[in-house]
Amino acid sequence: MNSRDYYQFEDMGGFYRIGSPEGVFCYLILGTKQAMLIDTGYGLADLKAAVDRVTDLPLVIVNTHGHCDHIGGNGYFDVPCYIHNDDVSLARQHAAPEIRRQNALRMMKSMNYETGEVFNALPEDFDMDRYCDLGTGILLPAQAGKVFDLGGATMELVWTPGHTEGGISVFWHETGIMFVGDAVGFFVWLYAEHSTDMLTYLEMLEKIDSMPVSEYYGGHNPMPMHHEDFDRFKRAALEADYSKGIPFESFMDQYRNPRTCAIDGMTLDDMFKPGFAAVVIAEDWH
Ligand SMILES: [Zn+2]
Repeated sequence: MNSRDYYQFEDMGGFYRIGSPEGVFCYLILGTKQAMLIDTGYGLADLKAAVDRVTDLPLVIVNTHGHCDHIGGNGYFDVPCYIHNDDVSLARQHAAPEIRRQNALRMMKSMNYETGEVFNALPEDFDMDRYCDLGTGILLPAQAGKVFDLGGATMELVWTPGHTEGGISVFWHETGIMFVGDAVGFFVWLYAEHSTDMLTYLEMLEKIDSMPVSEYYGGHNPMPMHHEDFDRFKRAALEADYSKGIPFESFMDQYRNPRTCAIDGMTLDDMFKPGFAAVVIAEDWH
């Protein structure tokens, strides 16, 4: 695949979901005055060139958190990328050349988890040196509660700590849609050094479950989530027992010996079945 075809823009009826072969979703919301880009993926191909083909509106960019698969394309843009203050140093670490190189090498042997097929997720014209030098982009710390008026689309930043300390979700007032990044989902990584404790995570789930949200869209799972899923998500955290967890192989912070703890005795084989929910935790998570 050439980098020109790397990003797939899917019209979701009012906004675009931008997919790419490595399994990350970014979102693009067009107002009448401005457009908002939520997350920039790994940035393995030129995301700005792709966005420019869809809109010429001035862009507001928000990073839901500092992980490499959400901030990696910031460096293609010459406008600021809003990120929570608590995730700025994480973004700097994750944008470093050595991390990028490891990511790109890993992408050459990507796994389709639904089919088990191994494939090269890099574009054919991938330039390793350019990629490793992309940097962080222009990071601009943003506080929760900040509201952007895109023109007919009012977007509010909501602090959603757990997966990372500085997680941000974006609540779209007119539609009730919330873009959550990796803060919420049926398989949430909470084991890293920069993840929060259980209470902070659970309070975050309570907070956004109590908001008038119609659908929650995440950074990896193509299916939107709804209020009725939250009981499972909370249970996964409350019932998580590291001693019974399944060791989890990860490219990130593997030294913390993460384990997957799923509800109702389920295993990773059940991941794509309805009713699955799990958290991935370290031994000291409480
Ligand atoms: Zn993440």
